[in-house]
Amino acid sequence: FIEVDQVVKVYGSYAALKTVSINVDKGQAVALIGPSGSGKSTLLRCINALETISSGSIRVEGEDIGYAPNSAGKIRLRETRIARQREDIGMVFQSFNLFPHMTAVENVAAGPRLVRGISAAAATQKAMELLHRVGLAEKAQNYPRQLSGGQQQRVAIARALAMDPKVMLFDEPTSALDPETVQEVLNVIREVRESGMTMLIATHEMDFARHVSDQTVFMEAGQIVEHGPSAKVLFEPETDRCRRFLSGLT
Ligand code: ATP
Ligand code: MG
Repeated sequence: FIEVDQVVKVYGSYAALKTVSINVDKGQAVALIGPSGSGKSTLLRCINALETISSGSIRVEGEDIGYAPNSAGKIRLRETRIARQREDIGMVFQSFNLFPHMTAVENVAAGPRLVRGISAAAATQKAMELLHRVGLAEKAQNYPRQLSGGQQQRVAIARALAMDPKVMLFDEPTSALDPETVQEVLNVIREVRESGMTMLIATHEMDFARHVSDQTVFMEAGQIVEHGPSAKVLFEPETDRCRRFLSGLT
């Protein structure tokens, strides 16, 4: 469903991704773990076409992301097409990124209204349903500054879901949160996963990776070092490198 094939991403002379290949099946959740600088965010950003790739290909539901192959090599897709593809891919960042001048319900309704052209009433109704789903119906009229970090992140998840994405990408969704609020966000992500969403989650929460993901990918220095069922990679890693990484965290 998400097919990342031999993707290379170079910044100047630095290879942030060196021939990375991953397949994520429909309905599957894959955790991305690895040390800082290993390329987790870069990979997610390439899948969402926030970065162009240097070579290889990325497909979501069979459609090329960002690039289309041609006989001469690779050509950039039109911006309009990239924008449309991006609507199908929900992304949640470490730093929430809500619109500060909009209330919670306005943040969630904005995409369907402005991008999909849904009426204000229908978008608001759907936004309220989503806020209810993430446990924040009573905070609908609060502005982001009037919400805790965990609440802001739950609004950000509701906002991503409002576009009915085919895939959800999470980039360390709990790293900026206080320990007490981490759990409420993880519970929401787990609920999204149980609804059958296909997702890729960069996380430092090994416990969460264990509970929510089917597969775990361990990256280091722009390469996949280990990839397999989460129970295997997280409990009985095959490589010394992955074993050392996991023991350093706990
Ligand atoms: P963390 O766990 O700290 O979030 P990460 O695994 O997400 O790390 P990336 O952010 O993907 O790591 O970065 C991978 C490498 O690419 C790093 O060495 C980083 O410095 C480099 N890099 C990322 N973005 C750029 C950029 N825009 N220009 C140049 N180098 C970059
Ligand atoms: Mg990162």
